[in-house]
Amino acid sequence: MQRCPSCRRLHWLPSPSCQTCGNPELLWEQLKGVGTVYTFTIVHKVVRNTAFAKMTPYLIAVVELDEGPRMIADVQAESPDLVKIGSRVEVTFDDITPEISLPRFRLV
Ligand SMILES: [Zn+2]
Repeated sequence: MQRCPSCRRLHWLPSPSCQTCGNPELLWEQLKGVGTVYTFTIVHKVVRNTAFAKMTPYLIAVVELDEGPRMIADVQAESPDLVKIGSRVEVTFDDITPEISLPRFRLV
């Protein structure tokens, strides 16, 4: 994630400048990639994008990283019922194309 060297704020989503102090010189920093499920929902029926229909039921969570930022991603588990608020998760990266990797999480 990007960190502001002036006020130390981490930014997710990426930003052209710091949302707190306006510094345009944000630096990329590698985080630990672990966090806690802050909240989640389980999708059982896909209405709009049928590409996700074969994945149901799947779980979308707000994950609070240990460094503080929260991000939305899916959490992979043998069953969505195994995921609870407060579950510990770690990031994995799904290479969609050679240029694009999606962050996903799995239970620790
Ligand atoms: Zn800043």
